[in-house]
Amino acid sequence: METSAPLDIVIVGGGTAGWMVGTALVSGLRPHQARVRLVESDEIATVGVGEATIPAMRDYNRFVGIDEVEMMRETNGTFKLGIEFLDWGFKGSSYHHPFGVHGAGIGGAGFHHHWNRARLAGHDLDIEQFSYAIAAARADRFEFPNPDPDKIDSTYSYAYHFDASLYARYLRKVAEGRGLKRTEGKVVDVTRDPLSGDVASITLASGEVVKGDFFVDCTGFRGLLIGQTLDSPFEEWTDWLPCDRAWAVPCARADRFTPFTRSTAREAGWQWRIPLQHRTGNGYVYSSRYISDDEAAATLMANLDGEALAEPRQVRFKAGRRTASWTRNVMAAGLASGFLEPLESTSIYLIQVAVMNLLKLFPGKRVEPALVEEFNRRVDMEYDRVRDFLILHYHANTRTDGELWKHCREMEIPESLKHKLELFRHRGVAPNYHDGLFALPSWISVLLGQGVLPGGYDRLVDNVPLAQALAEMERQRSAITRRMPAMPTHADFVARHCAISERAVAEAVA
Ligand SMILES: Cc1cc2nc3c(=O)[nH]c(=O)nc-3n(C[C@H](O)[C@H](O)[C@H](O)COP(=O)(O)OP(=O)(O)OC[C@H]3O[C@@H](n4cnc5c(N)ncnc54)[C@H](O)[C@@H]3O)c2cc1C
Repeated sequence: METSAPLDIVIVGGGTAGWMVGTALVSGLRPHQARVRLVESDEIATVGVGEATIPAMRDYNRFVGIDEVEMMRETNGTFKLGIEFLDWGFKGSSYHHPFGVHGAGIGGAGFHHHWNRARLAGHDLDIEQFSYAIAAARADRFEFPNPDPDKIDSTYSYAYHFDASLYARYLRKVAEGRGLKRTEGKVVDVTRDPLSGDVASITLASGEVVKGDFFVDCTGFRGLLIGQTLDSPFEEWTDWLPCDRAWAVPCARADRFTPFTRSTAREAGWQWRIPLQHRTGNGYVYSSRYISDDEAAATLMANLDGEALAEPRQVRFKAGRRTASWTRNVMAAGLASGFLEPLESTSIYLIQVAVMNLLKLFPGKRVEPALVEEFNRRVDMEYDRVRDFLILHYHANTRTDGELWKHCREMEIPESLKHKLELFRHRGVAPNYHDGLFALPSWISVLLGQGVLPGGYDRLVDNVPLAQALAEMERQRSAITRRMPAMPTHADFVARHCAISERAVAEAVA
C-alpha cells in the first residue's frame, strides 16, 4: 500500500542536471505528492560547459512551461538548425547533420532511396540541396518552422545554443518560484539505513542533517551518492570513444552569426564552435593518448575566429555510464550517471530522459524494484544508441593524419553498430526509432556524410520511373531555393525576437 504522505526528494548538485531535474519535479508533481529540496555547494564549481542542445529540449521546455523568448533572453541564446561537420570523413570534407529531413518520400519509398537509385544510375546530385534546414543553415538564416505540414518550410526543427551557467541560474529562478527549497552547503557525509542499505540522509559542512525518502545525485563526475556511496559500477567506453579531455575558451562574437554548431575534426579529436549572442563558445575535445595538453591548447587558441575572452580551461572525463543509474533510492542524472562526449550535444538530452522517466515511474516511500529495472532499461537503451551514433562519426573515416583516426577506423565496433552499418551499406536501411535518439534523418545524414554509401535501395523505388522521380526531386529542390531569400537572417531574427540588451552584452563579456 502506498502512503499518502508526500515523498521527500533531495537533489544534490546545482549544475545543469540538478536544476533541470528540480524544475521538472516541481513542475510535474503537486505538493501533496512530493517536497523537493536541492543542495548545492558554492565551493564546488559546476562544469560550466554544455551550451548546445537538440530539438528534444523544446519538449522539456513545453513540459515545465518555460517561455522560450524569456529563456533565450536570459541565457543569451541563439537558434540551432543542426551541426556542420568539417574534415570528419576526410580532410576537406564537409556535411551537415540537420534537424530536418533530406527531401520528402516519393511513391512510398524514402527520399534517400530515390537519391541513391539516381546516384547509382550516374546522376550526381548533392543530397544536402534537398534539405530545407541545411539550405537555411548555409545561408545563416532562421525562422520558426511553418506549422502547416504541407509546406516546404515545415520540414525542419530547431534547438538552442545558450550560456550554460545562465541557464542553470534561470532554471533556479523558475524552480524556486514553484516551491523548490534550495540549500547552500557542502555535503561532507552520507548516512545509509542500516537495515535497507538505502541512503537515509546527507550531512552538510554546517552540521545540518538533511533526511530524504529519495535522492537524486547530480554531483557531476564525482557521483557522490551513486558512485562513492552506493558503488554503482561505471562501464567504460574509452576504447570506442578515446577522447578524454577538453580545453574550452570563449572568444569575441564573429561577424558570421551561424544558426548551427560547427564541429571541425582535428588531428587528435575535434573542435566545437557555438555562437551565442554575446560571445562564441569554443573547445577542443581530444584524446590525451594522441596529443599533449599544451599542443591541444595551442591548437585551440590558434583556431578561434575572434579574440579570446579568457584563458582556456581544461575538463577531464571518461566515456561510459553507470550500469544502474537508479540504484536503491538514488537516481543519478547528468555527469553523475555517465558521460558521452558533446559531439552531438546529447548530455542535456540525457538529463531530460532521466527526469521524465523518473516522473513516469515515480516511486512511493518504498522503491519498487520493477520500476528501477524499467528505468535503467530505458536509460541504458538511450545511452547505447547515442554511443553507437557517436562511434560512427569516428569509425567511418579515411583520414590519413593522426593515430587517433587510424585507431578508430580499425577498432572493433559494438555489434549493434556493425549491424546498422551492414544494413545501410547493403540496401540503405537506417534505424528508425519511434522513441528516443536518433531518428532516421540523423542516421542518414551522418552515414552519408561520413562516406558510407549504400549499394542498393528500397525495392519500392522501382514503382516510380527514374525520370519521374528526378522531376519530383527537382521540384523539391527548387521549392527550397525559391523560399530561401524570404527567410530572415539569423542575426535579424534573434535581434527581433529575443535580443539581450547592449548593457547585458557588455556585462557578459566584461
Ligand atoms: C567539454 C564538455 C562539453 C560539453 N558540451 C555539451 C553540449 O554542448 N551539450 C550538452 O548537452 N552537454 C554538454 N556537455 C555536458 C554538460 O556540460 C553536462 O551534462 C551538464 O553540464 C550537467 O552537468 P552536471 O550538472 O551533471 O554536473 P556539474 O555541472 O559538475 O554540477 C555538479 C554540482 O554538484 C555540486 N556538488 C558536487 N559535490 C558536492 C558536494 N559534496 N556537496 C554539495 N554539492 C556538491 C556542485 O556544487 C555542482 O553544483 C559537455 C560536457 C563537457 C565536459
